[in-house]
Order: sequence, then structure tokens, then C-alpha cells
Amino acid sequence: LNRRLTEFGSTIFAEMSALAVRTGAINLGQGFPDTDGPEPVREAAVRALRDGRGNQYPPGPGVPELRAAVTEHQRRFYGLAFDPDTEVLVTAGATEAIAASMLALLEPGDEVIAFEPFYDSYAASIAMAGATRVPLTLRAPDFRPDLDALRDAITPRTRLLLLNSPHNPTGMVLTRDELTAIAALAVEHDLLVVTDEVYEHLVFDGEHVPLISLPGMRDRTVSISSSGKTFSFTGWKVGWVTACPALVTAVRTAKQYLTYVSAGPFQYAVAEALRLPDAYFADFREDLRAKRDLLSGGLADAGFEVFRPQGTYFVTTDITALGEKDGVPFCLGLPERCGVVAVPTSVFYDTPDAGRSHVRFAFCKKPEVLREAAERLRGLR
Ligand code: GLN
Repeated sequence: LNRRLTEFGSTIFAEMSALAVRTGAINLGQGFPDTDGPEPVREAAVRALRDGRGNQYPPGPGVPELRAAVTEHQRRFYGLAFDPDTEVLVTAGATEAIAASMLALLEPGDEVIAFEPFYDSYAASIAMAGATRVPLTLRAPDFRPDLDALRDAITPRTRLLLLNSPHNPTGMVLTRDELTAIAALAVEHDLLVVTDEVYEHLVFDGEHVPLISLPGMRDRTVSISSSGKTFSFTGWKVGWVTACPALVTAVRTAKQYLTYVSAGPFQYAVAEALRLPDAYFADFREDLRAKRDLLSGGLADAGFEVFRPQGTYFVTTDITALGEKDGVPFCLGLPERCGVVAVPTSVFYDTPDAGRSHVRFAFCKKPEVLREAAERLRGLR
């Protein structure tokens, strides 16, 4: 393993899901739903497979149907216009979009500012590009970004901001005012911004504002999203980038040598998913809002301090009140103690000891599963 990657072992998600399988515990660790996405979308995938659409290499930028559907989605939800031929790129999930963006846009030695805790692929993607990450810590209880610290962190080497809102694992959603301030800094310092918006449709309090919609950001933002979260098909790995032609071309240049293309038949199905009526998106959000409230209540009853998420399908908690100090041993012992798997969020920080007593639970599970998990966790007291 080269020096850029020696600090990276196996991802926490694989480890915790393996632990769940080994112990038969309820898996509230890795974020994936226990109910698959809409039947008509699955049918669309079957039809594409059967009719021979996408069984051979799809076009490099993605099938035209999906690129068109992405632009319709951006117009419908945000009033944003993109050219499907030059401003959309289909990727192997958001993960590849993030990696390809880092590989395409960074020079070795460039600095990338990101708010920690961050999704684990960020650190690895920045490292693979030979760049340096500069973490800015989001602090409990509300995990708001410190915009003065952001201003202070910008140096002549800063090339890019890597933002995630709604934010995994904290559930923090950046406000329009915060995004406007971030945009002003990006313009002032001529920075690129890569925005990970995979939870764009999972906002319970507030609204999702794409940074690319703000003044000065149209030509310096790479917007990333994915079908995994919005449509509950995390295994399909269909994601996309929307950006100006120059940035899409740059990201595509890296992407074409990572996977070239992927998920042919699923691309057609995701095109149909993106065209589902507004009610699908609203019902999905309301369903998860109820689950957020259900699990948050159960965790509070079990003695956890709960940091109520504004978005995503994760809730972060503090275990200090349970007489615990460190989420890592706590999570490793949890399946034995009460048959539940969760994720220690300290693994998403660079700063030593940050988030040490924080533990993340996923609530994208059936209500009866969340109730059972909460019941088991009550046994910790
Ligand atoms: N995004 C999901 C999570 O945060 C898992 C993704 C993964 O397993 N790599 O749990």
C-alpha cells in the first residue's frame, strides 16, 4: 500500500455490517434502508435488462434518458437549468463522483477544506489525489459551521471546499445564509466547491439549497447527488454530477479511467425514478421524519443525549450520560450487550478525541425494527 493510503484500513461501514451479520444484531450502523425503492422503478430496471437497454457499455457521460431526467429534476426542485449534453455526468454513485472530482481538480499539495466529521471517502479521495485535507470541526449540540474559522483556514494553497449538506453523520443542514457566506468566501478566494447533496430530499427542518444556485457559484461548483438515498437503491450505485461544461469535462476525464461507465440498465430505471411525482418525494421525507422522531424518542428514553438531525437518515447521540466515554469500544460491545449495531462517529474526524463520545444510529428501517432496537437499548440503563 502506498504512503498516501497507509492511514486507511477497511471502512467502518464494512466492519460494522460484518459485526451485525456475525452477531445477528439489528444493524443501525451502515446507512441503507431495509425496504427497497418503488416497485415501478424496479420494474423499469427489469424492462431495461429484458429489452437490452444498457446491457452493453452505455455512453461515457451516461445514457441520454438519465441525463435529461437529471436536468428536469434540477429544474423542477430548484429552478436550475443545465444542458444535459455538456453539464451532466453519470457516475458509479456519489462515491465515484467525489473521487473523480478530487482526482480531476487537485494538484498534489493543494489544500481541501472540509467540515469534520466527514463521510469516510472524503479523506481517502483527497489523499489519493495527493492533496491535504484541512478539517474544520462541527461541534455539538447543533453542529453549525464556524464561518470565521472557515475564513481563517483559507490559505494561498487552498484550492477547494468539500461540502456536505444535509450532513452525514450529524444531520446538520446548511442554511441559505451560511451557504451565502460560504459562496462569498469561495468567490473572494477563487475556490472551487464540491457539494455532496446525496441527502437533498431528506430535509425535515429547513430547506435544501444547492450552493450552485447562489451568485457567483454556477461556474465554480461541482454538485453531486445519487439515487441511492433518494430512491432506496444503495446497491445500484447510480450517481451524477451537475456543473458547468469545463468542470464536467474535467471530472469526466478522471471518471473515464476509473470505471469508464457503470450500471447500464439501472441508469434507465433511475431516469424513471427522477420523474416520479412530487408526492413520492414528499411521502418519502415524511416517512423518514416519523422514523427520526421514533428512534430519537427511543434513544432519549434509553438515556442517550440525542442531537436532533435536521436532515439525512442518521441521528447522532452522546453516550456520556450512560456512563460511557468512548464510542469505539461502546459500539464494538453493543451487539453483545443488547443486540444493536451503531457507528462511533470519532472515526469521521481528523482531530484526535473529537466526537469521542458520539455514536450514530441510522433510522432508515421499518418502524417495528426501530421500536425493537429502542427496546433493546433501554436495557443499557
Ligand atoms: N453512506 C452510508 C453511511 O454513511 C454507507 C456508505 C458505505 O457503506 N460506504 O452509512
